[in-house]
Amino acid sequence: MKTALITGISGQDGSYLSELLLGKGYRVVGTVPEDTPADIGRIRHLLDRIEIVRDDLLDQERIEKIIGEHRPDEVYNFAANSVLAASFQQPILATMVLAMGVTRILEAIRKVTPKARFFQASSSEIFGKPAEVPQSETTPFHPRNPYGVSKVYGHLMTITYRENYGLFACSGILYNHESPRRSPEFVTRKITLAAAKIKLGFAKELRLGNLDARRDWGFAGDYVRAMWLMLQQSQPDDYVLATGETHSVRDLCEEAFSHVGLDYREYVVLEAESFRPPETAQLVGNPTKAHRVLGWKREVSFRDLVRTMVDADLDALRPK
Ligand code: GDP
Repeated sequence: MKTALITGISGQDGSYLSELLLGKGYRVVGTVPEDTPADIGRIRHLLDRIEIVRDDLLDQERIEKIIGEHRPDEVYNFAANSVLAASFQQPILATMVLAMGVTRILEAIRKVTPKARFFQASSSEIFGKPAEVPQSETTPFHPRNPYGVSKVYGHLMTITYRENYGLFACSGILYNHESPRRSPEFVTRKITLAAAKIKLGFAKELRLGNLDARRDWGFAGDYVRAMWLMLQQSQPDDYVLATGETHSVRDLCEEAFSHVGLDYREYVVLEAESFRPPETAQLVGNPTKAHRVLGWKREVSFRDLVRTMVDADLDALRPK
């Protein structure tokens, strides 16, 4: 039986990856930060099948101890605050966790379990203001916020440990990936939740920023499958994980509201606070390498993703 250690297991990706790995017969150990309740929603249904430990990515000894005790075959690093705005508010903390946290885990693996395979959740934010469209594994980095800068560091450190110490360390350059478990700070879930609430009479309007902003949005469940595949290859490598297509925030509104029989134009109100300067330009990934080498294909389309999210929100909100 293989053991996987997932840092940040209580997040969206941690919960989907746990389900995938449990289905494959893995023993799953997950870390959550000291101050997070372990029974939070996304993993509550898994708590009798996974082991939860408290981590602190600022504490090298603690990480080495966790890795030494559980001796994982695979380590997936999702420990991060993925909300961009927070990285501007606390840039030093963001760097210590998002960037230095990666080195601490890599160091722990190198010292304690050098055969363990490592997946780093990197981000399309490393391209920020992209030099080309679409972006691939060879596109130059140009991050534009502390989150993106820290992710560049984590990405390069992963490659450095692979090249210098021969670790099986891989970085997945993840484009936005969403699901009913996405937190409502992200625009997809904000919209699907609002469509459901308005449909059920619990809300009257939805306040948004730039409706023309575009993203490459995929389904988180598809992306965790690619992460696992990356660690099953004969050689470690880095991959862009994306759909290769973009949609606008307006498309999201259109899809979500029409699914419940409403016209978004009657409910969406623009609000200045939700506009973000400077808007990231044309982030869209080229997933050709993942298709070719991993045999990975996303299974959930944009339309099905949005509809599934609206349906889940309707289900959760409907009086029982
Ligand atoms: P991320 O910025 O790629 O991490 O993901 P978000 O889901 O937070 O934002 C995606 C895009 O939606 C960005 O270009 C935002 O500018 C745009 N957007 C427009 N209105 C809103 C809003 O009300 N909330 C958020 N979060 N994003 C919005």
